[in-house]
Amino acid sequence: MAAKNIICPVCGASCDDIQVTLGNGEITIKNACKMGNAKFQEIVSPHRIREPQIRNGKGFISATWNKAILRVAEILAGAKRPLIFMGSETSCEAMEVGLHLGEFLGGIVDSNSTVCHGPTAMGIQEAGRVGATAGHSKSRADLAVYWGSNPLESMPRHMSRYAVYPRGYWTRRGRFDRTIITVDPRKSITAENSDLHIQLKPNTDYELISGLLTLLHGKRPHPSIEGTTGVSIAEIEAMLEMMLGCNYGAIYVGLGIASSYGKHRNAEAAFNLVKELNYHTKFVIGALRGHCNVAGFKQIASYL
Ligand code: SF4
Repeated sequence: MAAKNIICPVCGASCDDIQVTLGNGEITIKNACKMGNAKFQEIVSPHRIREPQIRNGKGFISATWNKAILRVAEILAGAKRPLIFMGSETSCEAMEVGLHLGEFLGGIVDSNSTVCHGPTAMGIQEAGRVGATAGHSKSRADLAVYWGSNPLESMPRHMSRYAVYPRGYWTRRGRFDRTIITVDPRKSITAENSDLHIQLKPNTDYELISGLLTLLHGKRPHPSIEGTTGVSIAEIEAMLEMMLGCNYGAIYVGLGIASSYGKHRNAEAAFNLVKELNYHTKFVIGALRGHCNVAGFKQIASYL
């Protein structure tokens, strides 16, 4: 059996072009990266749990779905304030049902955002966001900034499918029509493949963004910014020059912004920077999410 256009259930790129062929207890995957392929191989893994398990004393016994659902209902109905952790790998429709269930039970519903890009979402609530679809940026962006993210290891197809290497309508030569900046305290593999690596000290994203904004406002940052961030004013100027010189820039933030000191204030500052850059050229910003449908949970929770 072969199926096309399957959505990969691993990282936030949610690649929707996966081809899966299943037969004779084996599975063949096309288009997925190593991470995606490993996940699909679990379908035929002997470790896979194929039926519900109910705890009986110290161990588990297999049960029918009906019995398992009844047991879950009993547990939920007997709880005073259940926490339903929806995770990020289910569909939006399932998340909607989970949120309604939590409300009906008087419980709490949560997802991975709490330990992931929650601060980025709070930054959006503070500042608003100039965003775009991945397809829009693929066609137009001639500058990509990976800020606190390392897609070559965390979202392996981001550069090849969406942002750096593919040919877009206005970026026909792929990588040759694009400039890449990476902002990361580590010399990551993404940084090594970039045109400019801004190697700031850990936890100084807020100061660096403030320095960029100060220069954008036509003023000079206080010299102490160099000692604080580990980045010279000349480097910050060079970065800003590249950003102002593009036709369309896209910043892809990672947990480097959301999890370092400043948290949602870093994200808020980044969104404000992008808003101001739009007085000079076109700029958008988006987050590289770690789980395939963590963004879906946020959308459903927000609209409910
Ligand atoms: S980049 Fe992410 S979504 Fe795409 S195939 Fe790899 S793990 Fe799956």
